[in-house]
Amino acid sequence: MGSRILFLGTAGHHAIYGTQVRASGGILLQGEGYQVHLDPGPGALLQLNNYKINVKEHTAVAVTHAHLNHCNDLNVMLGAMSYQGFDRHGILITNETVVNGDGKLTPVLTHAHRNFVERLIVLKPSQKVAIDEVEIHALPAFHSDSHALGFKLYTPEAIISYSGDTKYHKDLLEAYDKSDILILNVQHPFGAKEEEGLSSDDAVKILQKVKPVLCVITHFGPRMMKENPVYQAREIQKQTNVQVIAAEDGFELTPDSYAAISKQKRLTNFE
Ligand SMILES: [Zn+2]
Repeated sequence: MGSRILFLGTAGHHAIYGTQVRASGGILLQGEGYQVHLDPGPGALLQLNNYKINVKEHTAVAVTHAHLNHCNDLNVMLGAMSYQGFDRHGILITNETVVNGDGKLTPVLTHAHRNFVERLIVLKPSQKVAIDEVEIHALPAFHSDSHALGFKLYTPEAIISYSGDTKYHKDLLEAYDKSDILILNVQHPFGAKEEEGLSSDDAVKILQKVKPVLCVITHFGPRMMKENPVYQAREIQKQTNVQVIAAEDGFELTPDSYAAISKQKRLTNFE
């Protein structure tokens, strides 16, 4: 099997994941020797089952922040991966809040479940960790979980950045730079004036500077759903000349086909 990115959910608001009009199982990255689950929200285990993916083959789970739509299934998933801790397995990469809380938010990971993994790694922005073939860098995110992260994943096939939940900030531009594929949680449509989360206007601002080969938008709120993410993606693409796709539940793509930027870099390094 080649590598793929599979969207196990595209919901980004309680009105959307609460009714499951869009699922909320997170994003799966699969390739030779690795299977990484990003943000296992409500129904993540159910979605793995739907797509016939064996949770015991997860090599890592990576959680951007402690809001339950990003980590609701975390504890039970670690249990399922490890025969309830009997066979410690996999690596959990997460932010400070998921493990220790942040004063306002309580920790999500239980004391029992933290012993179900081989390694528990808490990252801060700009820290990184290598797991088998994949290097994961923590990126900044600006959100109501004060320790929220994004992730940049260097896989053998491509460089993939995932924003997690964030509002627009100029530091994101450098963080996402040189990504082949940029996955943005664009909760709101053009013209939205929300405090939290990215809008289509923010996506345009980011893509005008970052220029990945492909941008995938996901994590949709109710207004975005009403405006239709497909149309929003088309408009973002028109304004930036970057290919933009609105993810649907079950959407999958082959990173290799979009790896122009990192391939070019590898070739230059070779000279
Ligand atoms: Zn959040």
